[in-house]
Amino acid sequence: MINSATLKMQFLFSLRKAGIVDRQVLQAMERVDRKNFVNGVFSEKAYDDTPLPIACGQTISQPTVVGLMTQALKVTQRDKVLEVGTGSGYQAAILSLLARRVYTVERQSLLVHKAAKIFQKLNFNNITTLLADGGYGLEQQAPFDRIIVTAASEDPPAPLLSQLKIGGIMIIPVGQSDNIQNLIKIVKTEGGYEYQDLQSVRFVPLVAGTEKEQ
Ligand code: SAH
Repeated sequence: MINSATLKMQFLFSLRKAGIVDRQVLQAMERVDRKNFVNGVFSEKAYDDTPLPIACGQTISQPTVVGLMTQALKVTQRDKVLEVGTGSGYQAAILSLLARRVYTVERQSLLVHKAAKIFQKLNFNNITTLLADGGYGLEQQAPFDRIIVTAASEDPPAPLLSQLKIGGIMIIPVGQSDNIQNLIKIVKTEGGYEYQDLQSVRFVPLVAGTEKEQ
C-alpha cells in the first residue's frame, strides 16, 4: 500500500508535469489537502488527477485543471477575487491562500453550507460563501480584480465582464455545455477586452437560478 506522503508527492509531480510552475500556486496546492473536499467514499482517489463526484450531481474539478486555471488567473495578495461555482470549495480554498479576499457563489444551497463549514473548520477566514446565481456576478462587492468561473457557459456572462476591474483577469470555460469547451482568459483593458484561448476542458454547465436543499 502506498502511503499518503508518496501520494502527495505524486500529486505535486503531476501538477508540475502538466505545466504548473508558479511557485505560489504549487505551494497553495500543497497546503490545501484535497482530501478535505472530497466525499469520504472517494478519499482514496483524492490525489488522483481526476474530477470526482460531489453532492447535488456536481463535481470537484481535476487538480491539474484547478492548477492551470489558478496559474492563469495571476492572483496577488492585494486581489479581491470572485469565484462562480463553489462546488466542494477546493478551488476557493486555494485562491484564499493567494488573494486578499475571496467571494465564492454557488447556486445549490447544500453545497454552500457544506463549503462554508469546511472553510470555518480549516480556518480559511478570508472566504465569503454565498447562495446566488453567479451569472449575475456579485454586484454588491464589485468590481473584482479577478473572476474565475468553474462552470461552462456559451458566452462569458455580461454582468461578470462589467464587474471586472480595468486590468483585471477572468478565466472561464466557454462553449456548448455538453461538449468540450474552451478555457479562455479575458483581460479587461481601457479599450475593451482581450481574449486568449488556453486549452480545452470539460465542466458542468452554468445553470440559471438557485436551488434549496431537499
Ligand atoms: N470550483 C468547484 C467545482 C465546481 S463544479 C470546486 O473546486 O469543487 C461547478 C459548480 O458550479 C457546481 O457546484 C454548480 O452547482 C455550480 N453552478 C452552476 N451554475 C451556477 C450558477 N449560475 N451560479 C452559481 N453556481 C453555479
